[in-house]
Amino acid sequence: MPELRQNLATKEWVIIASERSKKPYDFKKEAPSEPTPSFVQNCPFCIGNEDKTEKDLLVYPALDSRWPWGVRIIPNKFPALLPSPDCKIEPRRREGPYLSMDGIGHHEVIIEHPDHSQTPGTMTMEEIELVLKAYYERYHSLEKDCNNHLITIFQNHGVRGGASLRHPHSQLITTGIVPLHIRHLLFEAERYYDDQGKCIFCDMLRYEKSAGVRIVYENRDMVAFVPYAASVAYEVWILPRVHQAAFGKIEPQILHSLADVLRQILGRMYILLGDPDYNYVIRTAPYPFSDVPFYHWYFEVQPRISQRAGFEIGSGININMELPEESARRLREISVNPLLTG
Ligand SMILES: [Zn+2]
Ligand SMILES: [Zn+2]
Repeated sequence: MPELRQNLATKEWVIIASERSKKPYDFKKEAPSEPTPSFVQNCPFCIGNEDKTEKDLLVYPALDSRWPWGVRIIPNKFPALLPSPDCKIEPRRREGPYLSMDGIGHHEVIIEHPDHSQTPGTMTMEEIELVLKAYYERYHSLEKDCNNHLITIFQNHGVRGGASLRHPHSQLITTGIVPLHIRHLLFEAERYYDDQGKCIFCDMLRYEKSAGVRIVYENRDMVAFVPYAASVAYEVWILPRVHQAAFGKIEPQILHSLADVLRQILGRMYILLGDPDYNYVIRTAPYPFSDVPFYHWYFEVQPRISQRAGFEIGSGININMELPEESARRLREISVNPLLTG
């Protein structure tokens, strides 16, 4: 019998339609016939091609002396938004009943590794931590620009994840508006806080820890679980144990624990689902809401193993083809150790 479930934080309903005959390999991607090379001549992010990109905003040295650099952050060559040197006090414009504003914001690319063939699913924990440190540093630099109200840090991996380049990279975009989707999350969280006197995410975390069935991995600072109403199979949320509304408010040493969890989650997905296409996003409070008691930042990973089609677009209801408890169990059973030694 299919079941409808509601996500406590987003209030979104999901149809869980798991068929008994579904096997995990139904979700597994075909392995490519040729292995991905470490270097591609015309890839702008590969070593030796640094002059094909914009000037670096930040460079971290490599952990391994074989490479000229570890992580680079550059402005996006084809930006969705452009930074402004001025603080726009009243940026909205009206045209009849309509509203518009200048497309101000920062759009940056984080090149995560010099090796073209790597992905976070195969990178070491130390390499992932270096990427997270770069996110953290840019979060704080961009906080100083009064045009930035929200920072969205995300990764598109694979064609179905919307990536145009294979080279391991993620992006960040700052916006001067807080979009409806985020406002809705904040509104629901604040309403819950008014009713219950507690953070909705802390409550969810407490329940998931006691239920246990959807937990995939946890360490001292972070807990990773498949949400009760996961909108796609193998969706994973990673929440910090300590309540913080904003990613930038965490103690920097927590990045080490986050790198450990990410390594575990993305490494397990890599093995179980065969290097799946996916998106991840850091869902942090808008800058002006950085200290609120009702919102709790988290890291969301969504594999792109099924397509959003007419029903999903029309109704806003996703169909998840696997029980979230089953996805969690399969991910729990994978060991990433072969990757570490291989
Ligand atoms: Zn490359
Ligand atoms: Zn909380």
